[in-house]
Amino acid sequence: MTEIELLDAADRRARAYVATLPARRAFPSADDLRGLSRFDESLPEGGRHDADTLALLDDAGSPATVASASGAYFGFVVGGTLPAAAAAERMVVAWDQCASSFDNSPAAFAIERTAARWVLDVLDLPRGSAVSFGTSASACALACLTAARRTLLARRGWDFDRAGLAGAPEVRVVVSEAAHVTVLKALRLMGVGTDRLVVAAVDEQGRMDPARLPPLDDATILCLQAGEVNTGSFDAFEPLVAAARAAGAWVHVDGAFGLWARACPSTRGPTHGVEGADSWTTDGHKWLNTPYDGAMGICRDAGALAGAISSDAVYSSASADSQKNLGIEFSRRARGVAIWAALRSLGREGVAAMVDKHVRLAHRLASGLAAAGLEVLNDVVLNQVLVRAGSDETTLAWRDAAIADGRLWFGATRWQGRAAVRLSVSSWRTGQDEVDSALRHLCAAWEQVRAAGA
Ligand SMILES: *Cc1c(COP(=O)(O)O)cnc(C)c1O
Repeated sequence: MTEIELLDAADRRARAYVATLPARRAFPSADDLRGLSRFDESLPEGGRHDADTLALLDDAGSPATVASASGAYFGFVVGGTLPAAAAAERMVVAWDQCASSFDNSPAAFAIERTAARWVLDVLDLPRGSAVSFGTSASACALACLTAARRTLLARRGWDFDRAGLAGAPEVRVVVSEAAHVTVLKALRLMGVGTDRLVVAAVDEQGRMDPARLPPLDDATILCLQAGEVNTGSFDAFEPLVAAARAAGAWVHVDGAFGLWARACPSTRGPTHGVEGADSWTTDGHKWLNTPYDGAMGICRDAGALAGAISSDAVYSSASADSQKNLGIEFSRRARGVAIWAALRSLGREGVAAMVDKHVRLAHRLASGLAAAGLEVLNDVVLNQVLVRAGSDETTLAWRDAAIADGRLWFGATRWQGRAAVRLSVSSWRTGQDEVDSALRHLCAAWEQVRAAGA
């Protein structure tokens, strides 16, 4: 088989996979999972045929995938991949660029620069900000937070690059009780232990309470949140950012999915004031429906990010807006290209329409479930619906019953000490039909659990 024949075969299989997505189980069957044992082979001494490797991958791998890109998947905040983004990704794979700077890939450099400009435009964030296309909101948070600490230390006359942390003035970090685990991880990696974190209280929706905001000063990083992962709620940016500004603190906003609310007139309201922050992280691979791993770290002071992350070497120097100088990775693939393609495919109106559709569908889910006697715990301000079915036990029993036949998938969580389930509407493939069919399924499972308990 020639290289081109092999790629043709891969493309045929990939197309067949995508074509059958709508009919796929959201979660694989026990039989399909057993098929994974075919990967338990030892490293072959001699290479195997490429066609055989491809066949094994598809025949045993595809059936055991989670169809998270389908319209019947409501787990986490996963999203699908828009056709334009998937097509662009195919090209990126063919190009195989090390997209670290202009010298390595003029095409990637130019496209990602446009993508960066569009991201700032559609999210309406300060236009001169640096945009790093990183692997994840986790990695981008690490990049932004380390830039924050280095900047605050520099303002105190401390040269972090040379002196490091030993003996440095302490930079306090204020996080909310509902901060995402990956923000805490980024801080831990930076050497900010959990005991040193200043934890701010939240209200019943998971929003930081401005009335109980811990004291801030000019050696403080305040971590806020756009889109709490259970409720979708937003911190009150206007008063919180104003308080931070007055104190000289740095504000970082985790907006992994919620920042996209800004792109839609009907959901933009609660994001007012977020533009006053210093840095933001968001994902393409969640609500923008681009492939993994595509995320953005955005920093108002472009020089602060480039200063902290810069990895110019004697054999490889490049402009400050080269991606290798803005993110953790040195060699990297051109992950901003799929983000560019998604934005070009949707346009400003298309992004707004997708966000609006998902929020309307989340409301539809919430009211259908409430009508069936289930307890919706959150104000549905975004694409997340947090639900409880009586006790902890019946909530989990209901979820188990609803996902048992594999048609739907969604996760369980705990919210303020109680069991709950979380449904997220975040794939472009999810429309009213998918939501109505999910509702029928969820209500039938609830009837079943109630009948069993009665
Ligand atoms: C998913 C998520 C993250 C982490 O994003 P990754 O891209 O998975 O690293 C951070 N914060 C929130 C609110 C999230 O939903």
